[in-house]
Amino acid sequence: MNLKRFEAIIIGAGMGGLVSAALLAGKGWRVLLLEKERQAGGYVVSFQRGKYTFDATGAFIGGCEEGGEFDQILREIDAREAIEFIPVQQIRNIYPGFEVCPETGGFSSYAEALHRLFPEEVKGLRDYLSLVKRIGDEVQSYSRVTSVRKILFPFFFRNLVRFHRTTHQKVLDRLFKEREIKMALHTLPVTDPPSKLSFLFVATLISKALREGVFYPKGGMGKVSEAVANSFLRSGGEILLQTEAEQILIKDRKVEGVLTKDGRIFQSPLIISNINPNHLAKLLPYEWQKPLVKKTNRFEYSLSCFILYLATDLNLKEMGFPYFTYLRSLSDLEEEHRMLKRAEIPKNPTLIVSIPTLLDPSLAPEGQHLLKVLVVAPYQYQERWGSGNSETYLRIKKEFSQKILQQLESKLIPGLKEHLLYDEAATPLTLERNTGNEQGAMYGLASIPPQIGPFRPSHQTPIPGLFQVGHYTQPSHGIVGASLSGLFAARAILQKRES
Ligand SMILES: Cc1cc2nc3c(=O)[nH]c(=O)nc-3n(C[C@H](O)[C@H](O)[C@H](O)COP(=O)(O)OP(=O)(O)OC[C@H]3O[C@@H](n4cnc5c(N)ncnc54)[C@H](O)[C@@H]3O)c2cc1C
Repeated sequence: MNLKRFEAIIIGAGMGGLVSAALLAGKGWRVLLLEKERQAGGYVVSFQRGKYTFDATGAFIGGCEEGGEFDQILREIDAREAIEFIPVQQIRNIYPGFEVCPETGGFSSYAEALHRLFPEEVKGLRDYLSLVKRIGDEVQSYSRVTSVRKILFPFFFRNLVRFHRTTHQKVLDRLFKEREIKMALHTLPVTDPPSKLSFLFVATLISKALREGVFYPKGGMGKVSEAVANSFLRSGGEILLQTEAEQILIKDRKVEGVLTKDGRIFQSPLIISNINPNHLAKLLPYEWQKPLVKKTNRFEYSLSCFILYLATDLNLKEMGFPYFTYLRSLSDLEEEHRMLKRAEIPKNPTLIVSIPTLLDPSLAPEGQHLLKVLVVAPYQYQERWGSGNSETYLRIKKEFSQKILQQLESKLIPGLKEHLLYDEAATPLTLERNTGNEQGAMYGLASIPPQIGPFRPSHQTPIPGLFQVGHYTQPSHGIVGASLSGLFAARAILQKRES
């Protein structure tokens, strides 16, 4: 048998896998990237339908401003020049009884808009922002921590210690009176309700990724993964698409390679997994599964979602729509979450609508617009979307699409149904099938206090030579979080090699 040897093999070309691969290859390592799908990127891909370029999942990326966290990662792997980022400036958040329309995309301008709406909450807002900033500063300096500071951790990182078990709800209840402002401040890219979401996570997200606003890559979200994959290839890296890893081979208590589903073996003393930890455990020989499974059984995952991809010839620009609209009809965030956990869908679910053609008209033919409508949805809906019966699955999917379209037309875009040129939908099952994320988890692990920062799985596993990256690992979820995981893992590996 022809065995190929590599210095590192990466399983999965999501953002975590791609960034770690690009960094190691950039240092001259011989690296192989195995991806089960036809394209690299995981959740961060675009797909083509005729003349339409749709984004599969995400709508924006934080930290792309010069010197921002994502900008720095892309520069480090020489991929920054390949992407043009468009700042997202128009957003509109609609809640029962009020709206927030900040003047620019950043969190500060969002807070100013809230200030105008809730003048009696000014002190609470000031305290909230100041707390967010202090925590952001502590997180920043934690990444440069020296061993002396580590010993004196509680002294230097008072807020990290003080709030490490605190939920967003606790802070919101302490600082604000009105239920409305609490709801508006919890409009975040998470699926956890205020009573579960970690406040340290919120503060880090706002201070690091959202403060300067968010961005959209010209050409679609897939341009980001494409740029990172190209940087990897330029450095001599090898990508095998449509190649699924089936087993991780272990010899003498160390990893020695990967067996793929099509029966090929690739050898390497170092493997980086960019896949769900439960799946990772199943790739290991039985005796090595136990230590990983013991941990993964206790994890709490983020929820999944339903996505509608639409094209219309309505002139959405002239009609005054912003790039991003958040439409919430239910004020009780906790009840909404409980319903989703019971595999139920609220009568009028929250819709997250983005119109990328407003930022980049080249994604559709002239005079047409694309919309992506995202609704957090349970994996177990209608007994797991028809229990394997494809006719039932299609029926439930269609009914769901109709329900969302109806809501979209009646609450936001009148006349949409008559002007629909294309529609397609993805369910949690589609997300699971296309990316291997168990139950279609949007954001990997839930960002609850026991699963944030250092409490999230680290990159080094108990198995010598086996590392993990992606949104189930440190530091967090999201495109930037997963990319950082790849960066941190690759740096740790390089440091080990040098020492
Ligand atoms: C609907 C939705 C909207 C989102 N919106 C945003 C947003 O606007 N902004 C943002 O920052 N984040 C957003 N996110 C989250 C963000 O996209 C993810 O957190 C991040 O991209 C996850 O990256 P990852 O490295 O964990 O890899 P993943 O994207 O999970 O990719 C894993 C890869 O591994 C491959 N794979 C799995 N098993 C195998 C195997 N056995 N062999 C080979 N390959 C395998 C898969 O095919 C996949 O390509 C969104 C997510 C979703 C689902």
